Amino acid sequence: MTAPLILIGSGMAAIGLARQLRALDPERALTLITADSGDEYAKPLLSTGFAKRLPPSRLAVRSALALADQLGAVVRTHTRVEAIDPQARTLQLGAERLPYGTLVLATGAAPAVPFAVPAAVAARVHTINDLDDYRRFHAALEALGRPARVAIIGAGLVGCEFANDLLVGGHAVSLVAPERTPLPRLLPEPLGRALGSAFAAAGMALRLGRGLEALESVGADVVLRLDDGTGLEADLVLVATGLRPRTELAAAAGLATLPAGIVVDHYLATSSPGIFALGDAACVAGVNAMYVPPLQASAKALARTLAGTPTAVHYAAWPVVVKTPLLPVVAYPPAEAPARWRIEGEGADLAAFAETQDERLIGFALTGASVRRKVELARAVPPLLG
Ligand SMILES: Cc1cc2nc3c(=O)[nH]c(=O)nc-3n(C[C@H](O)[C@H](O)[C@H](O)COP(=O)(O)OP(=O)(O)OC[C@H]3O[C@@H](n4cnc5c(N)ncnc54)[C@H](O)[C@@H]3O)c2cc1C
Repeated sequence: MTAPLILIGSGMAAIGLARQLRALDPERALTLITADSGDEYAKPLLSTGFAKRLPPSRLAVRSALALADQLGAVVRTHTRVEAIDPQARTLQLGAERLPYGTLVLATGAAPAVPFAVPAAVAARVHTINDLDDYRRFHAALEALGRPARVAIIGAGLVGCEFANDLLVGGHAVSLVAPERTPLPRLLPEPLGRALGSAFAAAGMALRLGRGLEALESVGADVVLRLDDGTGLEADLVLVATGLRPRTELAAAAGLATLPAGIVVDHYLATSSPGIFALGDAACVAGVNAMYVPPLQASAKALARTLAGTPTAVHYAAWPVVVKTPLLPVVAYPPAEAPARWRIEGEGADLAAFAETQDERLIGFALTGASVRRKVELARAVPPLLG
C-alpha cells in the first residue's frame, strides 16, 4: 500500500496539487488539513469583490465537503497542525498524532503588520488575506449601513487593489504609505505617479510619503496619527503592509527555511526526505514570487513527482497583472537592480524598460494603453526561474 499523503493547507497551492495528482492517480489516499474553513475560493478575487458588491458566499466556489467529495480526499477543516516530527513521520494536531508517508507544506503566507494595534481599535483594524478575513471586513462594512471611510495602510499590490476596489464600490478611501508613489516594488516613480494621479482623479485621498505614528480610538472613529502631525479619521482601517511566508512549522521541525520561504529545490523537495513545499510558503531554488502562475506550475510538476516521475519545475516570464482598473498596470520586476529604467510614452500610457549596462532587457512595467505590450515584452525577458 502507498504510504498516506498529507497536504497541509487548502489554498490554491494545495487544491491545485490535489487536482493535478488525482488526474494522474485516482486511487491514492489523500488528506488535506487546513486551519481555515476549507471552502474553495480564488484568493485574487478578494480584491475585486467590493466594487461588485459580492457577499462572501459568492466568492466561495465550493464548500469543504463538496471539495472532499470532488477530490476523493479527506479534508479536515479548522484543524491546525502544531508540529511535524520528520523522524517519526507524524504530525501533531492537539492531542492527536497523525502518521504520514509523504507530506506537502502549502501553508501560504500571513500578513506582516509592522506595528502594534491597540486593543481599543483592534475590532476596526483589519487585514484581508483569506475568505474568512473578507467575511469579517464585509460584515464590518455592512454593519455601518452607509459608505465607509476606509484608511488603507500600504501601497503595494494588495493595498492598491483594495483601494481601487473599495473606492469604485462607493467608499471614501485614503491610501497611506511611507513611499512617495504607489506600487514602489513594481513601478518606477513616473509610472507610480501616473497610478497615483488616476487614483486621486477618481477621488481617493493619497497620504503618500507619510509614516504612521499611532492609531487612536476617538469616539466611533479610528484616528491615524501621521508623522507630519496630521490626523486621519476613519471608520475602518485595512492594513496591507506585506505578506510573510509561513515557515514556522517547517523551521521548528528542523527544515531549512529563509525569510523568503521554506527552502526547496527545483523538485519542490525540502531539506527533509519525504517533505515537499509549494505556493506562497516555498522559496523554490531562491525564488518566491507569491502569485498564482508559479504555484500552478509547481502543482503540476510536484503531482508528476509524487505519481512516480520526478519532474523539475521551471517558471516562464509571467508578468504580474495588477487589478487597478482606474489605471491598468502590468509589471515584471527585474530580479536584480537594473543599470537604468528607460521610459517611453506620454500621459498615463507609459512603458518602462529595466536594462542592464549592456542594454539587455531584464524587466518592465506598463501602465494604461501600454499594457497591450505585455505578451511581446514577456517573450523578451529572462524567465522567472530557469
Ligand atoms: C488580495 C490578494 C489579491 C491577489 N491577487 C493576485 C492576482 O491577481 N494574481 C496572482 O497571480 N496572484 C494574486 N495574489 C496572490 C495569490 O492569491 C497567492 O499567491 C495564492 O493564493 C497563495 O496560495 P497558497 O495556497 O500558497 O496560500 P494560502 O491561500 O494562503 O493557503 C494557505 C493554507 O494553509 C493553511 N495553513 C497554514 N498554516 C497551517 C497550519 N499550521 N495547519 C493547518 N493549516 C495551515 C491555511 O489555513 C490555508 O488553507 C493575490 C493575493 C491577495 C492577498
